[in-house]
Amino acid sequence: MSPVTGTGRNTAFCTRVRDNDPALADREPADRAVYWWRRTWPGHTRAGHPPVALVVTDAGPVALANRQQAVADLSAGCWRGRWCREVRDYNDDGWREYDDAVPVITTTLELLAEYGPMGPVWWRYGRDEARYSLLDALESPDTREAYDERQEAGEEKARQVHRELMRTLACADCGNVPTQESTLEYGPQGRQGWTRCPGGRCWSCHEKE
Ligand SMILES: [Zn+2]
Repeated sequence: MSPVTGTGRNTAFCTRVRDNDPALADREPADRAVYWWRRTWPGHTRAGHPPVALVVTDAGPVALANRQQAVADLSAGCWRGRWCREVRDYNDDGWREYDDAVPVITTTLELLAEYGPMGPVWWRYGRDEARYSLLDALESPDTREAYDERQEAGEEKARQVHRELMRTLACADCGNVPTQESTLEYGPQGRQGWTRCPGGRCWSCHEKE
């Protein structure tokens, strides 16, 4: 067994060849280059290169588990994907991009024989150590979509906290609920800041005083 070790560049998959699609005939050579495998399997739609399935056998359960882990560690640069963050989101969260990654799934011959390839036998490198069916195992972990959902949920939570805070600042006289805690208002001394507080009044009611 000679795994492709983690150099970060998946050279076996990165070889580019000329795309013979007649529709591209008038393009520059550089624009016609495609990954060799994409010319053979043009229907591939998942992110990254074609997945690799590793099946281990001929040892006890512990040795086989260790072997799968060893290959995972050695090949992490190939399958892990690129960690990305959105700076303007002000969080430590992020996601992985798999455009240059080789998804790797692994199992033992014994599990494969017992449950078949569509059974829950595949460990996808980069995910938890649960075993998934083939199609589930091919779903990439830590995707942008999952990040966006977490981000949206976090923003909705923040909006809700803000709405609740604003309700506690309702004007004692007219009941007006502000949209922000502090505003700039025009008063006798020109422009001045006005900060609402629980049990206090809005600027208009304050001015009517
Ligand atoms: Zn008021």
